[in-house]
Amino acid sequence: MPDTFPELAGKAAIVTGASRGIGAAAARELARHGVAVVLAARTLEASEMIAAEIRQTGGRAVAVACDVSHYDDVAAAVRACQDEFGRLDILVSNAGVVEPIARLADSDPEAWAHAADINFKGVYFGLRAALPVMLDQKAGVVINISSGAATGALEGWSHYCASKAAALSLTRCADKEYREQGIRVMGLSPGTVATEMQVLIKASGINPVSQLDPAVHILPEIPARAIAWMCTEAAADYCGTDLSLRDEKACRRIGLDY
Ligand code: NAP
Repeated sequence: MPDTFPELAGKAAIVTGASRGIGAAAARELARHGVAVVLAARTLEASEMIAAEIRQTGGRAVAVACDVSHYDDVAAAVRACQDEFGRLDILVSNAGVVEPIARLADSDPEAWAHAADINFKGVYFGLRAALPVMLDQKAGVVINISSGAATGALEGWSHYCASKAAALSLTRCADKEYREQGIRVMGLSPGTVATEMQVLIKASGINPVSQLDPAVHILPEIPARAIAWMCTEAAADYCGTDLSLRDEKACRRIGLDY
């Protein structure tokens, strides 16, 4: 397995939710393969620090303030990628929230809907804004960061499970509509990853995931490596599906042994 993927060099990507966690690791990893990256998150300062670090090591990166629950912000991130780097080849729709964790009867309707706006509509907004550019280029890769929650039910996570299931449906629909036109759309279910999200989950104490020993979580660099591999043609047979990092065969193909 090569350390870098030469076919990615010179491409341009947007990574949403790139201010920390899996998104930040994915932005760094894509830059290592020669991809110019737009880091999009609400917290501009944190994303800008990561973009500056990428530039200092010879990569190309810019940060933009973007709330994926607002279509205009997502469309502006796409324009920023075109303006800065002249193209858009890869969209990693990674921004996501698990809060507020609460059982249905206790849930706050507004907060529940806002989480769905981020986890589900944010993925739609990404596809809607990026696809026309990719279709003009006759190529593109969209990776929607999914979860085992897309196909499973967990107490206190109805907003998360339902919105990840809806995002998986968008992955399938987009693949059906655009595969023949050179667009590869797939999802990544990373397993449990040592990020701020797992800290919040642990603090909730509400379901079996919150009881996990933090030592079992994988580092964000592992899904980041998977994301880079998924941007290559080698991953084409995962289009329209969620690739799970719990699938040993998939991990072997990616070259992950952990
Ligand atoms: P994290 O450390 O909490 O990071 C979440 C990222 O999303 C942050 O950069 C945050 O930045 C951004 N974000 C949140 N709301 C946003 C919004 N409205 N607009 C733009 N950006 C927004 O969590 P993570 O673990 O890296 O999660 C990344 C993705 O992996 C999520 O989709 C999550 O569901 C998925 N995932 C995580 C795990 C896990 O175990 N950690 C497991 C399965 C799936 P700002 O706050 O600056 O906007």
